[in-house]
Amino acid sequence: MTNNALSALSRRTQEAHCQVLERHKTFQSALSRYGKLLDKRYRLDLDSVGDAAALHGTEQSMLEAVCLHFLVHGQFDLADKLIQESVVDVPAAARENYVQLFEILTPLKERNLAPALSWAQANTQLLADRTGRQLEFALHRLQYLHLLSTGDVQAAVAYARAHFSRFGFEHLKDIQRLMGASLYASRLESSPYAGMLGDQPWLDVERLFREEYCAALGLPSDSPLYTSIAVGTTAIPSIIKMSQVVRTNRTEWTQQDELPVSIPMPDAVRFHSTFVCPVSKDYGTPENPPMRLPCGHVIGHESLMKLSNHDQTRFKCPYCPSEASASQAMRVYF
Ligand SMILES: [Zn+2]
Repeated sequence: MTNNALSALSRRTQEAHCQVLERHKTFQSALSRYGKLLDKRYRLDLDSVGDAAALHGTEQSMLEAVCLHFLVHGQFDLADKLIQESVVDVPAAARENYVQLFEILTPLKERNLAPALSWAQANTQLLADRTGRQLEFALHRLQYLHLLSTGDVQAAVAYARAHFSRFGFEHLKDIQRLMGASLYASRLESSPYAGMLGDQPWLDVERLFREEYCAALGLPSDSPLYTSIAVGTTAIPSIIKMSQVVRTNRTEWTQQDELPVSIPMPDAVRFHSTFVCPVSKDYGTPENPPMRLPCGHVIGHESLMKLSNHDQTRFKCPYCPSEASASQAMRVYF
């Protein structure tokens, strides 16, 4: 290689090196700006919305929640170890009830309905009071379809005769469809009744059984840890927004143990009904209970006292043209 060629090559290499350095610099500065922008845009200052002091003295409840989480998921070894190693106050009866639940759910997963049916039959009254024997019918329905899918039409029809008649009043339409399916027993998969088969009905019955069993025995069917996290993650965006508004307006959030805005939650995580006075937006308490006016509208006791000037004057209902006096209002119990 000549000297000229060598120097040309070295020049080109140097130029390429400079270009790479230049691009790297542009990229780096964009990247650092991007990081700062991300921090600015998605600032999650959870310290300002959380109250670490509120967690003091809750260690026991947390241990209980962890222990219940293990029980709800059938991890009895872990739950027992936790009970042994710490002082967790989980009643022995609750543990036994979850053990029994898994003694029923495990065969159910293997398509054996007998333990679930015998539990439902032993607790007919309890279930009828709650959901009108929906679970018992769902189990018989599945047993019938199971027999039908094995091709034993006679056994399926005999099963239907023995068990469906009691449910004729509430589930007539469904029973008619189930009996229609028996005509296609030899080729159920390609019949109009194919949708009744498959894994889904088994999964639905398993979920229904778990919910009904736990509700009947007063146990949580979902892990309290899972429920807390689901509620927390749903509520946190509103709480962050609210704390920003409070800071911008320089107002203070003074209510103890209470949020200044209501945060909508799905029905599955609502456990207690609460009354909120539509005038003052205060929660109902034993000192400030809900009061029903003669027109049917309900307001808090404190609002009633304010409007009526402590029962000195008649006043107009805040929601309709009716007039009333405080003494005409009646306390409402939820
Ligand atoms: Zn009214």
